[in-house]
Amino acid sequence: MGETCLSVAETLADVAARRPALKSVLAAFQPMMELRAALTAELGESVAAALTLPAFSLERAAQGAPLMAGMSLHGLAAPLRTAARRMLPELSALAPLASHRAALEDLFLGEGAASERIVEALVAGNGPEFERLAGEASVPPETLGFALDFIAAPVLRALAAQAIPAQGEAPWNGGAVWTQGYCPVCGSLPVIATLDKRVFEEKNAFLAGGGGKKRLHCGLCASSWTFRRSTCPSCGKQGNEVMEILRESGNADGERLDWCVHCKTYCPVVDLRERESVPDMDAMALGMLHLDIAASRKGLRPLRPSFWNMF
Ligand SMILES: [Zn+2]
Ligand SMILES: [Zn+2]
Repeated sequence: MGETCLSVAETLADVAARRPALKSVLAAFQPMMELRAALTAELGESVAAALTLPAFSLERAAQGAPLMAGMSLHGLAAPLRTAARRMLPELSALAPLASHRAALEDLFLGEGAASERIVEALVAGNGPEFERLAGEASVPPETLGFALDFIAAPVLRALAAQAIPAQGEAPWNGGAVWTQGYCPVCGSLPVIATLDKRVFEEKNAFLAGGGGKKRLHCGLCASSWTFRRSTCPSCGKQGNEVMEILRESGNADGERLDWCVHCKTYCPVVDLRERESVPDMDAMALGMLHLDIAASRKGLRPLRPSFWNMF
């Protein structure tokens, strides 16, 4: 808490220095990741003018309902259009998206509110509706999902930021308020997890905690939430023998994958107790691509597919 976080560029430069083999992949994604971060900051005012996130409710949280689920996103078409106009030229540089550029332009830059309905279906976790709307837009659902990671993400991140207090923990953390493996704000599955650094209570040295609390990070709206270490975020199985760890031999800088022996899904994890600085989480997830490859060889599936482990 209160510690400065590295930027996308700083995090990727650090990874490239340690793993030169990943340099060209990191360079291919860096402009899109930096633009997403810049757009999130730029769109804050227009998103706030268009929509207010509902107040956090313990009752809804207890039912496992994310904050944005069921919320009307009417008003977001304009910021989505701005994000798409800036992001589509970058996305179209990637081969699997190039052939869908015209359809994505129609969808996001057109006059209708189809983009709002698609993002509503996404945050409501309504797969059939999402697939139907993707079909209407003539874009394969997984390609559309990837485009939304960069076009809807800055807009949803600006909206999700409304729920984060200036100081202290988010309302869904602490106690057993939110126990789901998916995001309490947008319902997306986590793209990466961290283990917290040691915490020192200045007023009372005896309360110094050992750290190591697990925190899942949403790749769509960038919210984070605490989660039990012995539980699988995907299938919910719990116990000492559920989660296994996969890591490189030698000094791994706290980087590893936690995978579930039951459902064979994995999520990258960074143990912040083994690092000096806090990396940018999106950039760090990309920077652990070597572990995605090792996981794929073991027949494991990413908890939430990203472009680099999807195509
Ligand atoms: Zn989220
Ligand atoms: Zn599982």
